[in-house]
Amino acid sequence: MEEKPVRLCEECEQRQTITPSHRLCSECMRLKRKTLASRGTGKKVKVSKDRPEKMQPRPDLEVIINFKLYPDLFAQIRALSEEEMRPLEVQILYVLKTHLQAERGSNAVV
Ligand SMILES: [Zn+2]
Repeated sequence: MEEKPVRLCEECEQRQTITPSHRLCSECMRLKRKTLASRGTGKKVKVSKDRPEKMQPRPDLEVIINFKLYPDLFAQIRALSEEEMRPLEVQILYVLKTHLQAERGSNAVV
């Protein structure tokens, strides 16, 4: 009969470690990770102050488009996106951009 290697947690010395190669039990690991995480966020705040807010989420730049009243328009855009192998939202942006560019161009001529 082979004996399973059992190792007691070095922190609490009561519970068994997660694996024999670990020093701590799952409970102490969790506690340690918690304290590390809270320490980590403290540092992160300082770092984000140095950096520009490029990676910040911008909900004000997000639009949900409802095509309920324009199913034909939706079908057209979707067909285009499949034809040009773009994701639908990229296709919408692309159409918008080219449309605005064309409009700007025609305004410049007039
Ligand atoms: Zn422990």
